[in-house]
Amino acid sequence: MLPFETLLGARDAIASKKASSVELTKIVLDRIAKLDPAYRAYVSTFPDRALGVAGEVDAGKRVGPLAGVPIAIKDNLCTTFGATTCSSKMLQNFYAPYNATVVEKLEAAGAVIVGKTNLDEFAMGSSTENSALMVSRNPWDTRTIPGGSSGGSASAVAGMLAYASLGSDTGGSIRQPASLCGLVGLKPTYGRVSRYGLVAFASSLDQIGPITFDCADAALLMNVISGHDARDSTSAAMDVPDHLADLEKPMKGLRIGIAREFDLDEGMDAEVKASIDRAIEVYKSAGATIVDVSLPHTKYGIAAYYVIAPCEASSNLARYDGVHYGHRTAEPVRDIIELFSKSRYEGFGDEVKRRIMIGTYALSSGYYDAYYNRALKVRTLISRDFEQAFEKCDAVLSPTSPTAAFRPGDKADPLAMYLCDVFTVTCNIAGIAGVSIPCGFTTPEPGSDEKPLPIGLQLLGPNFSEPKLLQIARIHERVTDYHTRRSGA
Ligand code: GLN
Repeated sequence: MLPFETLLGARDAIASKKASSVELTKIVLDRIAKLDPAYRAYVSTFPDRALGVAGEVDAGKRVGPLAGVPIAIKDNLCTTFGATTCSSKMLQNFYAPYNATVVEKLEAAGAVIVGKTNLDEFAMGSSTENSALMVSRNPWDTRTIPGGSSGGSASAVAGMLAYASLGSDTGGSIRQPASLCGLVGLKPTYGRVSRYGLVAFASSLDQIGPITFDCADAALLMNVISGHDARDSTSAAMDVPDHLADLEKPMKGLRIGIAREFDLDEGMDAEVKASIDRAIEVYKSAGATIVDVSLPHTKYGIAAYYVIAPCEASSNLARYDGVHYGHRTAEPVRDIIELFSKSRYEGFGDEVKRRIMIGTYALSSGYYDAYYNRALKVRTLISRDFEQAFEKCDAVLSPTSPTAAFRPGDKADPLAMYLCDVFTVTCNIAGIAGVSIPCGFTTPEPGSDEKPLPIGLQLLGPNFSEPKLLQIARIHERVTDYHTRRSGA
C-alpha cells in the first residue's frame, strides 16, 4: 500500500515534514518497478529527474499546492523530458520542444512527475487495446482492461503507482477509465483547462482533467491546472474559483436530474443499474429532490460523435506524414506521395486509419452536408437539451459506463467498443462539465474466479460548474466508502 490515502494527505504530510518527498517518490518508483510489469500503466518513467525535483522540494527550493507529490501524466501531453508517443508508432521517437501548459502548471505547483502513461493510440478507444505499445491492465483484476483512452492514467492511480494523474477526455476518456478503476475522473468544461501541448485528437471536444482517489484530490488538481492561457485561443478568460472552498458545505435545495433517455434496456449490466438506483437513494436521503428531465437528442449522441471526432481527427492527423512530423518509411519510394502514404501506412494502427478514412469521407465534397453539417446540427440540439435540463436540475445523474471492466478481445467489433461511450459523449458534444465517481462493485457468482469490479456514476453539470459538481459528488462520497477501497497490493 501507499503511505497516505490520498494526494491531499500526501501533500499535507510533506508540507508538515511528516514525510519527505524523496522518500515518497522512492516508494512510488519502487512500486512501479515491482508492479508495473503486471499493470503496464507507464510508457516511460523519469526516476532521476523525479528524485531531483523531490530533493528540491525537501530542500525548500520548490513550494506550491502539490509540492513533492508523485503524479503521472498521459503520454499525449508534450514534455521536454522523455518522448511524447501518444502510444503510436508514428510518434515513438517524438521529443517535444516544449511543455504543455498543464505540465508547466503541475511543476510550478511543485508536483513530481514520475512518468507518462499508456493510452489508446492518439486517444482513440475505450480500453487501451488500440495502443501500439501494450494493453494496460486493471489493477482490480489484471485479466481485465482499465478502460480508455486514459487507461494507463487510471491504472497507475488504481494500482497506487502515483497519487493522481492527468488524462484527456474527448468522448469519455477520463470518466470511463476512472469508472472502471474505481476512481474519480473529471472532464472540465471546454475552455476551462488549456489544451496547449495536448496532442490534438478532436480539437472542439478535447479537454484535460484529473483522475484521482477522491473528490478533494480532483478539486486540488483543478485549482492547479485550470485557467486562461494565451497560447490556447479556446481557453476561457475567466477567473479560477477555489474548487476546495465549498466542497464540504451542505447544499440546500439540491435537484438531481434523471434523464429517461439514459435508462437503456439493452447493453446495460443489471448490476450497474442497481448501483445507480442505490446512488439515487443516497441523494434522496441527503435531502435532494429527484426530478425527471428529458434529453431527447441523446439517442443521436454516438452517431454525431463518431462523425465529428473522426472529421476533426482526419484534419489534425494530416500533419503526420513523415516529413512534417512522425515516422518516415525506410522503404524505397518513387515520389513524395508514396513517401507520405507508406509512412502513414506503417505509422498508424488500424483504429486510427479507420477514423481518418471515416473523417475524410464525411468531409469530402458532396458528403459534407449529409454527414458533418448534420452532425453539427445535432450538436446544437444536444446543447439545447442540456440547457433546458439544467433549468430544472443542478446535475444530471447517469451511469458512466454501461458495464464494468471487460477483458481484452471482448469488444473486437469496433461498434461494440464505440457503444462504451453512450453515457459520456454528449458531455463533450455540449462542452459541459462531467465527473465520474465510484458507486459500487460487481458481485461475482459464488464459486467463480471473477473478482469484484468497480462501478461508477456520472454527474453532468452546466458550463463551469466544476466546484458545484464536485460538491454534489462529495455528498455521495461522504456517506459511502467506495472511494476508500483500494485494489490491494
Ligand atoms: N472512446 C472514445 C473514442 O474512442 C473517446 C475517446 C476519448 O475521449 N479520447 O473516441
